[in-house]
Amino acid sequence: MTERKRRQGQKGVKTIKEICPKCGEYLKRTYTRELVDGKQRFVKSGWSCPSSACEYVVKDYVELSEGEPVDNVKNFAEACCDQNSLKELKAALAGDADETDMKTWHLTEDQWRKALEVAIIAMENNLSVDEAIKCICDEEDQEA
Ligand SMILES: [Zn+2]
Repeated sequence: MTERKRRQGQKGVKTIKEICPKCGEYLKRTYTRELVDGKQRFVKSGWSCPSSACEYVVKDYVELSEGEPVDNVKNFAEACCDQNSLKELKAALAGDADETDMKTWHLTEDQWRKALEVAIIAMENNLSVDEAIKCICDEEDQEA
């Protein structure tokens, strides 16, 4: 069993057909309705198994604008929201990156800071971590 390695910054790896690990069916693209530039659009969100007896679903692998994996950032940001107060998060962000956090969540220092920023935005604006990550990505797009 070999697993495809996801290299940072690698694009165009999503064209390969995904197969359900439970029943071997080719997975189907799933879409969600999202508001993009003021219009309702269907946005690819992942893959799901067509078998009615199987509930296997995978979410698309999302990349930040730098091409870094968003999963670790998102997971850590969610944990931050769950386990810390806004004040604690701001205090943490003002200091040095936490070595234990970085090791535990497989984050670079930049990702650690990004996750804290995401958690702070989410808490301050009453957003989900997903929405807060999009805010940060949008801001970066506009600066570029
Ligand atoms: Zn299946």
